[in-house]
Amino acid sequence: MVMPADERRRVVEGLLQFARKEAEPLEAEIADVTGDPRQLYAPDGRFHPRVVEARREIRRRAAKAGYYAMCVPAGLGGGGLGRLVFFEAWDALTRRYGPHEVLAYFAVAHWATGPSAMWLNAEGWLASEVLPKVLSAEIVGCFCLSEPEAGTDAWGIRTRAARAGDTWRISGSKQWITNGPDADYAVVLAVTDRQRADARRGGVTAFFVPTNSPGFRVESVIRVQGELGGNEAIIGLSNVEAAPRQVLGREGEGFRIAMYSVNQGRLYNAARSVGMGTWAVERAVAYARERRTFGVPIAEHQAVQLLLADTAAELYAARAAGLRLAADNDDDGVDINRKDAAITKYVATNAAFRAFDRATQVFGGMGVTNEVGLYQGLNLFRILRIADGTDEILRTTVARELAKGDLAL
Ligand SMILES: Cc1cc2nc3c(=O)[nH]c(=O)nc-3n(C[C@H](O)[C@H](O)[C@H](O)COP(=O)(O)OP(=O)(O)OC[C@H]3O[C@@H](n4cnc5c(N)ncnc54)[C@H](O)[C@@H]3O)c2cc1C
Repeated sequence: MVMPADERRRVVEGLLQFARKEAEPLEAEIADVTGDPRQLYAPDGRFHPRVVEARREIRRRAAKAGYYAMCVPAGLGGGGLGRLVFFEAWDALTRRYGPHEVLAYFAVAHWATGPSAMWLNAEGWLASEVLPKVLSAEIVGCFCLSEPEAGTDAWGIRTRAARAGDTWRISGSKQWITNGPDADYAVVLAVTDRQRADARRGGVTAFFVPTNSPGFRVESVIRVQGELGGNEAIIGLSNVEAAPRQVLGREGEGFRIAMYSVNQGRLYNAARSVGMGTWAVERAVAYARERRTFGVPIAEHQAVQLLLADTAAELYAARAAGLRLAADNDDDGVDINRKDAAITKYVATNAAFRAFDRATQVFGGMGVTNEVGLYQGLNLFRILRIADGTDEILRTTVARELAKGDLAL
């Protein structure tokens, strides 16, 4: 059952308060580093250790305060608050802080780096020993599906896990791995049955791999959009040993786990899109009321009004789509509707991308300054039209699901 609106509001307000009281002071302590791109990244592209530690610290504090795993299924030891709270929490957080990557964004677990329904597949040692550490943020992870030769076409992964006596040996290369540079563990998708994988009928297995395992190596940090470093890594796996207890879920069922998780990511990205898009509108409206040309505030020029109105209309629709997706699939223990997740992520990330583009236009020259920070949103949403399913594959997914008979709109 969906949580009543007033209770959801209380949770979100509590989270915002946590962000103000806990994350903002810590943010101020590392401002000398985060405010200077030459200090933010080490020469190898990794974040400054103080930034990494502050992120870990805020995760741990949020776990203690009950926010980190609040939307993780209760059966796993999470708060079980569901996907609607998850959507509203990310919408509210990002609306407050905008596209700059603040510490508050580490207060609620990300499906790929922290506890999520992916762990419903954990049994034995993974469930009893590892999961509690994931829930308390003692350890953080990364999710290794994509490879140099396999992004959109994820079935094409070449990383292989071969049996060697009682254990597995994993070899291959992973690319674009978010949090890869700083993770304690990786969930690695590897082919365990080539024939089935080639037929796209299973044959891919998910492995829990500590990043200090011999043969696991962060080969480089990917720099995106002019940054001197980043959060995504290329990872090499060379004969990495994995015991049977490190298999997450059943052998051969990794692809199902991956797709389930990716859909969760689409809801997350939709929520961030509408929140940050609204952050941009709020700033554009304030500026349009204040900035004067030809004797009147620019908000009175029809051309500027259309920029704002189109943005508001698109964000309104995207937020409605996200709220519906979350409410219709509120139980985090069940698979999210694939078509609706694809529609929502497509609509929301594109709405946000245009929101930042139009807001930049409204600000005129000021719009392209670092001071206003709109460029960060433009960069982010350009990326988010690719990561977690490109615009093209999302539409392909929608068309495929329609053809299969899912015509609910
Ligand atoms: C910032 C960032 C973070 C990421 N984080 C992770 C992560 O943590 N873990 C992880 O495993 N992966 C991650 N990814 C990888 C991401 O999922 C892939 O980049 C994405 O799926 C696209 O794959 P690709 O880059 O190989 O592009 P390609 O698959 O090479 O696509 C190139 C172009 O061809 C188009 N195209 C491809 N196939 C089709 C088709 N069938 N129909 C129509 N058009 C098609 C695409 O839409 C695109 O325009 C991340 C990517 C980015 C950019």
